[in-house]
Amino acid sequence: MKIGFIGLGIMGKPMALNLIKAGHDLCVYDVAKANVSFMAAAGAQACTSSKAVAENCPLVITMLPNSPNVREAVLGTGGVLEGARSGTILIDMSSIAPQASQEIHAACAGKGVRMIDAPVSGGEPKAIDGTLSIMVGGAREDFEQVYDILMVMGASAIYCGTIGAGNTVKLANQVIVAVNIAAVSEAFLLASKAGVDPNLVFDAIKSGLAGSAVMNAKMPKILTRDYSPGFKIDLHIKDLGNALETGHAVGSPLPLTALVMEMFQTLHSDGCGQEDHSGLAKWYEKISGRQI
Ligand code: NAD
Repeated sequence: MKIGFIGLGIMGKPMALNLIKAGHDLCVYDVAKANVSFMAAAGAQACTSSKAVAENCPLVITMLPNSPNVREAVLGTGGVLEGARSGTILIDMSSIAPQASQEIHAACAGKGVRMIDAPVSGGEPKAIDGTLSIMVGGAREDFEQVYDILMVMGASAIYCGTIGAGNTVKLANQVIVAVNIAAVSEAFLLASKAGVDPNLVFDAIKSGLAGSAVMNAKMPKILTRDYSPGFKIDLHIKDLGNALETGHAVGSPLPLTALVMEMFQTLHSDGCGQEDHSGLAKWYEKISGRQI
């Protein structure tokens, strides 16, 4: 099948490569020309706009940073809606505000374009393996129509409800990940300051109740002080901002999220916004004057 792919960053690139490996023809676009050239070398057809991608493909996937980027790529000048036909399916796999998904969906529907929101969890390693967890909102029949395509990129694709539901679930995911990294950093600093080797702490507790996928993925990075992204602090600030906005809108208090958000903001102000979110450990190291 001919598939359009817009947004070829840390996540989009390996996801697009897996679609090529599965035998699909890809038309690609990214505002960063180097990313388009990379995919062209891997066999994709390079396009010069999101509009051109949509003109060429009945199915378009977007994997962009946040709501304003998706609005620009879909609704803006030279965007998907300018090139799409009635019946085109748009799968937005970016993590954006659920309210933005609903607004963009309404604009798409005006042109007969069917949109689902399908954000992912798992990060770059699972994007490379094609084992992402995908959470989907939109019309169930649209989800069912693209299920096999989603399963090229993911180990699971779960239908969560009407448009925006995928991003609501993703916000819950991001709250759990952020608070978990903060808890792990706090606990490991405690053990380290009290004189226990943090490598031994990890070995001793990772298989018990405190163990988690977050600890397994992030503790090796914290212990080796490898803060290369991964998932950037600035993207997590974006997600927690969307979570707080949604929480306020529906009346759900998020005190822990608000606290971790301010820790991330401190790191951003300190020039660490492009580092991995496991860099939360540095916040604790800074206020305690000791390296984990
Ligand atoms: P990234 O910054 O590496 O890539 C985003 C890409 O979008 C860039 O190449 C950028 O040039 C391009 N772009 C921005 N605006 C554009 C536009 N208007 N038109 C065309 N291209 C445009 O980000 P990423 O890490 O790949 O994340 C993408 C999305 O996936 C985000 O919503 C993020 O929250 C989510 N996500 C990321 C991870 C992760 O571990 N990196 C994990 C799960 C979900």
